[in-house]
Amino acid sequence: MDLSLAEPEGIRILRAGRIRTMARPGEPATAEALAVAGDRVVATGRLADLRDDFGRRPEIDLGDGCVVPGFVDAHLHLTMAARQAAGVDLSPDVVADEPALAEALRGAAAVTTAGEWVMASRYDHMRTTSGRVLDRAALDRIVGEHPVLLVHIGAHWGVANSKALELAGLTDDTPDPSGGLLGRDGDGRLNGVLHEQALFDLAYPSLAQRGRIVPEPGLRSLLLGLDTASDAFLSAGITSVGDAMVGPDELRLLQQARSRGRLRLRVNALITHPHLDHLVAAGITDGFGDDWLRIGGIKAFVDGAVAGRTCWVSEPFEGTHDHGIAVVEPDQLHELVRKVHAAGLRVAVHANGDKAIELLLDAVHSAQRAFPEVGTRHRIEHCSVVTDQIVARIAELKMIPVPFAGYVYFHGDSLEGWYGSDRLERMFAHGQMLAAGIPVAGSSDYPCGPYEPLIGVQSCVTRRSRSGRVLGPSQRIDVEQAMRLFGTGAAFAAGEQSVKGRLAPGFLADLAVLDRDPFEVPPDEIGAIGVRQTWVGGRPAWDTNQPRHAAASAPTHD
Ligand SMILES: [Zn+2]
Repeated sequence: MDLSLAEPEGIRILRAGRIRTMARPGEPATAEALAVAGDRVVATGRLADLRDDFGRRPEIDLGDGCVVPGFVDAHLHLTMAARQAAGVDLSPDVVADEPALAEALRGAAAVTTAGEWVMASRYDHMRTTSGRVLDRAALDRIVGEHPVLLVHIGAHWGVANSKALELAGLTDDTPDPSGGLLGRDGDGRLNGVLHEQALFDLAYPSLAQRGRIVPEPGLRSLLLGLDTASDAFLSAGITSVGDAMVGPDELRLLQQARSRGRLRLRVNALITHPHLDHLVAAGITDGFGDDWLRIGGIKAFVDGAVAGRTCWVSEPFEGTHDHGIAVVEPDQLHELVRKVHAAGLRVAVHANGDKAIELLLDAVHSAQRAFPEVGTRHRIEHCSVVTDQIVARIAELKMIPVPFAGYVYFHGDSLEGWYGSDRLERMFAHGQMLAAGIPVAGSSDYPCGPYEPLIGVQSCVTRRSRSGRVLGPSQRIDVEQAMRLFGTGAAFAAGEQSVKGRLAPGFLADLAVLDRDPFEVPPDEIGAIGVRQTWVGGRPAWDTNQPRHAAASAPTHD
């Protein structure tokens, strides 16, 4: 198929086997064709009618597949994925066991200049090292001469070898950082495991409290990593993402990519809380930017991770007395939320456990009372474990939850043992929150979960884990509701619901061409539907024939 367009900015007509417009109830749910002008949809309907209305126009046949609005993922980590793509990928699909992991790390060390960092990500101890966490000593045996940092797939903890601890200035006498934890053995000696802020200081410059410890990869590596991540997301039909951890380095990378024509999907940047004062001082309010790159809120954290079993819960994890961890003091959170709210910015606060969510609800409630004239709707990132009372308060405070869509499928098998099947009926509570009239946004939180929106849709519809177990079936939703999570739901979380999530006049011409209709396949097959093409702004951005960028996993030196 020739995707080149004779009149790029003129009106052209796109037709396909079926177009699912995801329009408002009462408007046509399907169409034969779209008329597109520039980057916008100007009309939808029957092909014959559009030909009558617009006369002879270039027509592009998108084939016999099913066209849907491009998926919007409200919360994932694009720039983190770009940085990780510049390092070693330890995904269980890539390294199945400990010998394979060791080989991957040794291979990277062999092509890294002596003494420089070997950074690795997506380590899943449950699947790759049989539930046992590799510690500092184990890492030292694999690679001793380079500093090595492994980041867990959940992104909230990692493991450093002795050289890395030394370069980071961490010794047995170092106290835990505020909001973090240094893992220790029975004698109080550092075992290399770094939780929360202790990891962030090394792995995530936008949240680091101690200045830069690990050098930033060069721009060339990062742009290659961004290409790799963008290809992956576009190949899943994603056209817009919320990047949930953006600081100055990440914002610079995104701007560099844009100025070089290498920003291929739309980015709603959530700026990490240490940079709030600068935004306020610069007079930047919610939505600053344009359709390609904008500022969508301030990211902060209350607790740990669901998949890392560190979220802050009222009932302990199954068979333990462990209630997880809070990473912020209540006063700090109240002050932050109040400042963000007063400045006309949106908070997007990570709160997984019910205790964490309650603290955030308290903070938002008091900020709204102090500044009732500010109408900004705030977000709860993840909002994983809820109660009836929490759901009622979310509705009352007009907040927007952004729960994981794909976790039942992807992490379900390990979650059942930690949270219990009763609590899983109150986790990722898409069904209950939608029934309460709350706008719910779709999110993968990649790299913490699989980025494919259709896997998220399948997970929400079936509540079935990879091994086939059904977890929390009371929270099931139908295909239409699940598709809307990654459409108007996620768009609403960024204040972009008037331009994204539908194929209707005035909306951006962002779309995905699927090989089957998600409304018509058995629910367990939704995640396996193929994406043939992805269009952003009325132009093809990816198709199955496009050459993939060379994997950027080998370190590049620049
Ligand atoms: Zn996240």
